[in-house]
Amino acid sequence: MERTSRIQGFYKLDMKERLKIVADWAGLTEEEVGALGNLGNLPREVAESMIENVVGGMTYPFAVAVNFRINGRDYLVPMVIEEPSVVAAASNAAKMLREGEGIRSLAGPQEMIGQVHIVGCRAPHYKAMKILEAKQEILEEAKKSSPTIVSIGGGPRDLEVRVVDSRMGPILIVHVIVDVVDAMGANTINTIVESIAPLVERITGGEARLRILSNYATRRIVRAWARTSPESVGGREIAERIVEASIIAEADPYRAVTHNKGIMNGIIAVALATAQDHRAIEAGAHAYAARSGVYKPLSRWEIDEDGYLVGSLEIPLQVGTVGGATRVHPIAKIALKMLGVKTAKELSEVMAAVGLAQNLAALRALVAEGIQRGHMRLHARNLAITAGATGDLVDKIADRMVRDGKISYEYAKQLLEAYLRGEKV
Ligand code: NAD
Repeated sequence: MERTSRIQGFYKLDMKERLKIVADWAGLTEEEVGALGNLGNLPREVAESMIENVVGGMTYPFAVAVNFRINGRDYLVPMVIEEPSVVAAASNAAKMLREGEGIRSLAGPQEMIGQVHIVGCRAPHYKAMKILEAKQEILEEAKKSSPTIVSIGGGPRDLEVRVVDSRMGPILIVHVIVDVVDAMGANTINTIVESIAPLVERITGGEARLRILSNYATRRIVRAWARTSPESVGGREIAERIVEASIIAEADPYRAVTHNKGIMNGIIAVALATAQDHRAIEAGAHAYAARSGVYKPLSRWEIDEDGYLVGSLEIPLQVGTVGGATRVHPIAKIALKMLGVKTAKELSEVMAAVGLAQNLAALRALVAEGIQRGHMRLHARNLAITAGATGDLVDKIADRMVRDGKISYEYAKQLLEAYLRGEKV
């Protein structure tokens, strides 16, 4: 019988029953079933409350980056990631950036944007004015729908209207700006935009289509910056090459994407450890990188008047210390406790700082490796000449020594003698 993926009521089954179906489908061994069915440190009820159709768990390593000093405070940074070297690199760069107050990081208000898209509206530019005229009334309506967030000092703050042309005619877009305090804010915002949509429809005479937050969190920007002596990154030459690498990323979007990927290595590892919506963070960050119309690096490195290497990073971060899975996943709770952050603002400041350090580590490794290789080659050439090589033979012997990782006068002499005996070098 042909097997089918159309499984009615799969979601209603017990986890064990679902796992059995999958095991039969994939021909899993008993050992494989045991491994997949192991939820590790996530209780079954929690796993099943988080997502649907759960059949098991998958554990990623949870590591801690050390040496971080951010805004004058020391942090142990929890990181969950599958890629080797990220945690070591973060710890390493954090050490380079510890001087003084360490990395500085500052987030603005925790404001998210909720959108209502109105279609079928006549005279949309005029209606945009009518929306602004009714701003207070709309904001009052929004506040009524979100008493908790208002009671803790957050809530709707402002309103903006845009009219954009599309192939189905003009779309009137209302943005509600909401201070979501310590939450990522998706559900908070969604409740608010749904509540104001009927009023917006009445004012505009159009129909509300999409009512949801925007993950392009341009009102939730975090800035991190740091300054370090050239010696702490390995010398002036390396510091200058780091700046060069930053400039290359500014000029070349293909490089900028990889540059930003390095930043996200750090940010997403912390996001995973603290159970953030990392897709939202990624989507927002990359859109922000392309805000000029050309994809750019989120950070820049320069050398200041004292010859110090200085880095700065600007990124939108939509994170929460409440809501979503942050207080549901037991390990995320531990990660937040370890960080000791009290607010979403502080969490985002730590994450931006980690992103900047991660970026420095990646650039340093890239340029230092190149420099190292360059130096080794120069050294190998000198040894080849000292051993008596001339002409083309100098490069041949030098390349061979670099390739073999054996750069010494003795080896250069040995290779030269082999060549003179007629052997290939
Ligand atoms: P949430 O709804 O779970 O929690 C937020 C609520 O917590 C607020 O409504 C508020 O009443 C309460 N609260 C208590 N103390 C608070 C404080 N100090 N600050 C702020 N709120 C406080 O969480 P959320 O952040 O609104 O939504 C996040 C979840 O929504 C994530 O799981 C995310 O994946 C999901 N989501 C994302 C999208 C998207 O990004 N496009 C869309 C839908 C859902």
